[in-house]
Amino acid sequence: MSTFKAIRIDKTDTGTRAEYGDFDEKELMDGDVTVAVTHSTVNYKDGLAITGKSPVVRRFPMIPGIDFAGTVEASSHPAYKPGDQVILNGWGVGETHLGGYAKKARVKGDWLVPLPKGLSAAEAMAIGTAGYTAALALLALERHGLTPDRGAAIVTGAAGGVGSIAIALLSKPGWQVIASTGRGEEAAYLKDLGATEIIDRAELSAPGRPLGKERWAAAIDSVGSHTLANVLAQTKYGGAVAACGLAQGMDLPASVAPFILRGVSLLGIDSVMCPQPLRRQAWERLAHDLDRDKLKRITTTIPFDKVIDTAGAILDGKIRGRVVVEIG
Ligand code: NDP
Repeated sequence: MSTFKAIRIDKTDTGTRAEYGDFDEKELMDGDVTVAVTHSTVNYKDGLAITGKSPVVRRFPMIPGIDFAGTVEASSHPAYKPGDQVILNGWGVGETHLGGYAKKARVKGDWLVPLPKGLSAAEAMAIGTAGYTAALALLALERHGLTPDRGAAIVTGAAGGVGSIAIALLSKPGWQVIASTGRGEEAAYLKDLGATEIIDRAELSAPGRPLGKERWAAAIDSVGSHTLANVLAQTKYGGAVAACGLAQGMDLPASVAPFILRGVSLLGIDSVMCPQPLRRQAWERLAHDLDRDKLKRITTTIPFDKVIDTAGAILDGKIRGRVVVEIG
């Protein structure tokens, strides 16, 4: 029997249980590329999977971990050969397909992205699904025709993973970035990433009016609920809001007023099933534009055996920036 180290989630009488253990290679699911995983990350969704707080895992046993970077070990896919460095984000990995918290992963080659030139595997996972989602959001705002001369951009959930990288990315082409955070003590961190103004998230998190003063032209929102409704209500004429998360809630208690009176657009961002061309565009943009020193300041690195402890902390909003897991 050939085994490898992994985190395994099993169903129990009362819910689910996550623990470290040995996984039999024979239990790996179908796929045409086998990857020796070197790095993974802790995303919000991984927190939900490991703690069982939300039913994101839909197959048992499951190896959680929605993203990973590593080196191809074996491949029958024409685009990949042993030794190639690759990244994986989404496609149901860590939810319906065995995921990244393991020394080994077997996936479809069509899901993989070659590690962009100039990025190490550790840097790619410092960016991770959160950073790649922030890049998708920025690209959506740009496709909408928005440029920094139109006004400020607001980032909600600013000190989190999506938020931190969104600030760093927006500041590069010159956006004035307003960071909305519940952690005033992180003001210096957020300014260092490129935020020009910090607001308390309490300004946006309670029920608000259908329309407010026009304050920003663009937004990247990872919070949802009343926050997203208030962000929409305060978006300038012709502006757009890229919605990618639900840290406050999945609801959207908004009115149509910003859409029909100010021509505001709500742009949906999905990283999981995102088509390959857009995925690669987002990764190229990150490899090219993201300041590596800022990325270092955003990142905390943990060993493999600290993942389960970290899962609860990310759901409690206690993690600043991004967490890289050293697997290999
Ligand atoms: P993090 O936990 O790192 O960041 C979320 C941030 O949201 C927190 O740091 C906090 O920021 C803020 N926040 C937390 N709770 C609340 C609350 N009750 N009210 C208002 N703000 C709150 O998670 P990620 O950045 O990794 O992910 C953010 C969201 O984006 C998640 O909902 C995640 O599921 C989603 N996501 C979606 C993807 C997609 O494909 N659409 C892909 C990746 C993530 P602060 O302390 O600064 O206030």
